[in-house]
Amino acid sequence: MPRAHNFSAGPAALPTEVMTEIQRDLLDYRSTGMSVMEISHRSSTFMDIASRAEHSLRQLLHIGEDYHVLFLQGGARLQFTMIPLNLAAPGEVVEYVDTGIWSQKALHEAERLRDAKSVASAHDHIPSESTWRRHSGSKYLYITSNETISGVQYHEFPSVDSVPLVVDASSDFLTRPMEVDRFGLIYACAQKNFGPSGLAIVIVRKDLCPEPLEHESEYLNYAIHAKNTSMFNTPNTFAWYIAGLMFDWISAQGGVKEMQTQCEMKSRKLYDLIDGSVLYRSVIESRFRSSVSVTFTLTDDALHRPLLDAAENAGIHHLKGHRAVGGFRASLYNGVPMQAVDALVEFLADFEQRKS
Ligand code: PMP
Repeated sequence: MPRAHNFSAGPAALPTEVMTEIQRDLLDYRSTGMSVMEISHRSSTFMDIASRAEHSLRQLLHIGEDYHVLFLQGGARLQFTMIPLNLAAPGEVVEYVDTGIWSQKALHEAERLRDAKSVASAHDHIPSESTWRRHSGSKYLYITSNETISGVQYHEFPSVDSVPLVVDASSDFLTRPMEVDRFGLIYACAQKNFGPSGLAIVIVRKDLCPEPLEHESEYLNYAIHAKNTSMFNTPNTFAWYIAGLMFDWISAQGGVKEMQTQCEMKSRKLYDLIDGSVLYRSVIESRFRSSVSVTFTLTDDALHRPLLDAAENAGIHHLKGHRAVGGFRASLYNGVPMQAVDALVEFLADFEQRKS
């Protein structure tokens, strides 16, 4: 059966090779006669899957031993809560750069828990660091590397030395290299670039989460998860296994540098089409356009529904923009093949021609 051209923002397309491997293992993982999802997380078989996944990720991003790598549940959003709880004490200041809906949501959660401040706010570009209103005594500065809804991305990360830099890399994790030691904490949910939903990876500098004597919550404490090798409670074993397969797949493609090359080629094809067209329009300042979340609108709103219908008929799925902003969005994550992008570009060009 042919695979759909899937541009979903997440859960999103996974590479067919990885899906085939999962299918092969499904009833019988390496002659155990059991599926990965049927075996204990304490078994040597699963412990081996878990540690190999962590090892592969450490290799992909050159993560040093001074960082914990945690495989947590609760998706990315639980990190909106865990970050302020772990990295600041009640009443302490924490700083957020508001570049869109996801950083705003993170800021609002932090405001409930700590003295959270917005240092800058803009939703169609990344505000220049020279305009940021910094606050003294802050415990960290938080950014969202790719605003999945609007399609605004940091192509250069800010140089923040005074406080730990925290990044929500949910939608562009492993789509490009990252210098891990520039960050205090990096986190990402899995369902866009490396697996199914529910799982989140947290890479956190060990000195930022020393074992606490007292903490507001046992479960929401990084030190507890680190001490228990992310098995404080039963982990999402199946998602962890798939993440491991994805890390190996990325490595076999040539690593994160190759993912970046692919992502840039994919997005360039779409932006070239948009910029050369009368019907399609990008509202994001070109310097800050995302290489993974390509958003666009139409100069003729009446064609919105016809375009979505025609796309579905052509086997091109999930082009509808987020309900908060409307328009269209094509997510070009690691699992989206170049042929899907070529099919989309051809379809959009043809649609414009037919409607003009
Ligand atoms: N941050 C960003 C940048 C996202 O794109 C998303 C999900 N689209 C989230 C956080 C929330 O992720 P989850 O649904 O896994 O909690």
